[in-house]
This record gives sequence, structure tokens and C-alpha cells, in this order.
Amino acid sequence: MKNIVSLEGKTVVVTGAGQGIGKAVMELAIGLGARVAAVDLNRDALMAVTETLDPKSVLPLVGSVSDPEFTNAAVSELMKHFGAVHGLVNNAGIIRTAMIEKMTLQQWQQVIDVHLTGTFLWTQAVGRSMLDKIRAGEQASGSIVNISSDAGRRGTIGQINYSAAKAGMLGMTMSVAKEWAKYQVRANTICFGLIETPMTEVIRGDKFRDKILDQIPMGYWAQPEEVVKAVCFLLSDASSYITGQHLGVNGGFHMAS
Ligand code: NAD
Repeated sequence: MKNIVSLEGKTVVVTGAGQGIGKAVMELAIGLGARVAAVDLNRDALMAVTETLDPKSVLPLVGSVSDPEFTNAAVSELMKHFGAVHGLVNNAGIIRTAMIEKMTLQQWQQVIDVHLTGTFLWTQAVGRSMLDKIRAGEQASGSIVNISSDAGRRGTIGQINYSAAKAGMLGMTMSVAKEWAKYQVRANTICFGLIETPMTEVIRGDKFRDKILDQIPMGYWAQPEEVVKAVCFLLSDASSYITGQHLGVNGGFHMAS
């Protein structure tokens, strides 16, 4: 039987691939047949994870997603290396936690830069390459998956910067979906709840653990390997008629009508 979520023949860019959710997306995408351009700021982490993978399937690219020069050079390099790009997962992320009264402009700006500017730059650079191939009749479609958070739909204490950035990504997804639907380039958001990664170490600690678990109807926080299946579904042709949507992958933490 045909694997309906196969990524065979596709090249996918994953930002923030050095650890956590991005690493799990990269590993599953390769398992489903994709070749992956893996982007991360943390050279040591990226090299350590990509060294364990088949070198024919992965191209590590070290730099910051919010750096326009790096972004354009990296997209040129991956196009030269793989010849085409079919998927993009805007996943790189950071938190800079502080209550509103104490948050510095730097903490605000850093989070906005990575999530919003980074997503814009990579969407533009990768999207241009997709559209060139599609207009030339050399490629049929593309899929962009923006990794947002329920923080962007509910707000969260101590993270006005992060909530604003993640809410902004919802709007970006819908704009991309509307502009590029005619080229069969889809864009969707995944809003994660609480996933066990280095980013959530503090919130999973003794101080907050029970309070958080009480708010998750399914009663547990997930491992990256469980939730990245949804990302690969949105990258695959199995989701070919889905665009401009925000999918909660959160154990029921947030339910939208
Ligand atoms: P993580 O901190 O474990 O990993 C993030 C990765 O992004 C790291 O490898 C880091 O080096 C990289 N990165 C950070 N800034 C970068 C930059 N400027 N350029 C390139 N790479 C950069 O985090 P995670 O939990 O795996 O989160 C991945 C994404 O999922 C983030 O966008 C995060 O906001 C989102 N998210 C996570 C959760 C969760 O519960 N873990 C929930 C909702 C949303």
C-alpha cells in the first residue's frame, strides 16, 4: 500500500534543527524519504545531530534565521546542492522570559527577531525558489509549516514577547496562504502546547508541573517524536487541500471553534 505521508523526492528546510522539535522533524522527514537542509545557530548541536544521519540526505547550514545575508546565502547553497525545495518548517525559536514591567527592549526584540523576522526571511527566500520552479513548470507544489504556540492564542504570563511573536506567525501563515495558493504553495501553522524539549525545562520543573498538567485534558506533555508526525503530514501531499489553517497539537490544552 502507498504511504500517503511519504516525502520521497522532496527537499525540506528545517530551521532550529539542532535539538528538540526541529531535530525530531528532520529525523522523521528523512525517515519518510525527504532530503533536509538543516539550519541552526548552534554549530556544535547541529553538527552532532547531522553527523549521525546519511550525508546524502542532510545539508547542515550554520547561522541565524534572522540574518538576511546568511539566509540568502544558505538558500542559494541548498538550491545548488539539492536543485529544488518543496517544504519549509519555520521552527527556530527562543524564549526570553520576564514580566511586562521588567522586560527589556532587548528581550522583546530578540524574540520578535527570531520568530517573526526569521519566519519572514526564510519564507521569502525559500518561497522565491519554490515559485521560480513552479512557474517554470519544473515543480508542482510547496508546503510551508510555521511552528507557533498556544501562547499566541491564549497569552502567557512572563512572555508578552513570545505571545506576540507566536500570534504574529498566525497572521503570516494566512497571508502566505492567500498570496501563494494559486501556485499550489500551501502554508499552515502548528500550535504546540507543551512538548518535552530543552526550551520547556523550567516549566516542567516541580514549581509549575502540577498546574500545567491540570490544564492538559490528555494529562501528559508530549515527546517531540509524537508531535512531529503532524508537521510531516502538513509537509506531505496527504494535506494537499489544507492551507491557511492553524492546527493545535496540544493534548487538548487549547480548543478553538
Ligand atoms: P529548543 O530550544 O529545544 O530548540 C530550538 C532550536 O532553535 C535550537 O536548536 C536553537 O539553537 C535554534 N535557534 C534558536 N535561535 C535561532 C536562530 N536565530 N537561528 C537559527 N536557529 C536558532 O526549542 P523547541 O522546544 O524544540 O522549540 C521549537 C519551536 O517550537 C520553537 O519555535 C518554539 O517556540 C515552538 N514551540 C515549542 C513548544 C514546546 O513546548 N517545546 C511549545 C510551543 C511552541
